[in-house]
Amino acid sequence: MIAQPNRRQFLSTMAGAAIAPTIIAADTKPKKLGYALVGLGGLSTNQIAPALQTTQHSRLAGIVTGTPAKEKVWAEKYGIPEKNIYNYETFDQIADNPDIDVVYVVLPNSMHREFTERAAKAGKHVLCEKPMATSVNDAEAMIAACKNAKRKLAIGYRCQFEPYNLECKRLAREKVFGDLRMIDAGFGFRSGNPNQWRLKHALAGGGALMDVGIYALQACRYLTGEEPSVISATEVKTDPVKFKEVDETILWNMTFPSGVVANCNTTYKFSGVNRFRAFADNGWFSLEPAYSYHGIKGRTSKGELSFEDIDQFAAEMDDFSRCILEDKDSIVPGEEGLKDMIAIEAIYKSIRTGTEVKV
Ligand code: NAD
Repeated sequence: MIAQPNRRQFLSTMAGAAIAPTIIAADTKPKKLGYALVGLGGLSTNQIAPALQTTQHSRLAGIVTGTPAKEKVWAEKYGIPEKNIYNYETFDQIADNPDIDVVYVVLPNSMHREFTERAAKAGKHVLCEKPMATSVNDAEAMIAACKNAKRKLAIGYRCQFEPYNLECKRLAREKVFGDLRMIDAGFGFRSGNPNQWRLKHALAGGGALMDVGIYALQACRYLTGEEPSVISATEVKTDPVKFKEVDETILWNMTFPSGVVANCNTTYKFSGVNRFRAFADNGWFSLEPAYSYHGIKGRTSKGELSFEDIDQFAAEMDDFSRCILEDKDSIVPGEEGLKDMIAIEAIYKSIRTGTEVKV
């Protein structure tokens, strides 16, 4: 069994996430920032809204939806007043609503830019789901829009608040097993409905890589603390009808400036790929599953890892609220999303050109 961190060490690995002691504790009640969710699909319904019932510094204050039938259901379920309910056309009026501090963009990927820009223009801070955008150009525009409006922008990288992932980041960065040499990482699942927006290039920007491969890419980046310098990638397509517009399976390699190499994969074709293993001079550490909402499991060459199972969305939102309340930088700012977009564009370029790409 690897030595477990004591509570204090554990809290410090949480890097200011939800369970860290709050600095806003002087008042009897911590201040809760009002969140408006834009897009009430699967993620908002099943993860984000329930998480907002448990948060300390964040509350569900408003909704933005293109489906009128959802307005009543959400208003009744979460006690949302009519004045805090918008559709995509009335959304800009949110500028006049002091109940809303943060707009959380949970729409199909290619819509992230428009709603981030409109939210910033309305004077709201923005939390935007991953992938941040569908191009480097859009990601840069979103960062600029929030900077110009003097509003904060963070990306929904929930794994960066998850204790097992944070512990592996610590093991890597503190060289607990020596210098890191190689990472194997992958995330994929069997994609269902052939008519969903995730398979349409104009809305998704890409397939498995944009949707879930990004988690494996992120893991390599937060384990190494570096940006890949050389990338080579191959795409495999066994169902050109279903995956006509987007990638089905991608295998890619990255070399980092320190010499660490990463061997990654992602797929929409089959389930069960959800892991990383990092190899260092004196041992290894791995998570499998690594990126699920719950039930992460970790092992090292010295034994099992054991941490609390947390609500990653609650941790992510409360961290962003604290960053706003205390005027601190987020550990997952827009720039973090941009770095992933740069690597993703390089992966697609390598597939297109059949050559390795210097990033
Ligand atoms: P979803 O399909 O369940 O919901 C999408 C929502 O967008 C729906 O409410 C839909 O009505 C609305 N919408 C507006 N315009 C649309 C259009 N033109 N076409 C299709 N839908 C439209 O998707 P989801 O799973 O909630 O994903 C939303 C975002 O959240 C995506 O960017 C996705 O990558 C991200 N996501 C993140 C995680 C995570 O773990 N962080 C998990 C799932 C999804």
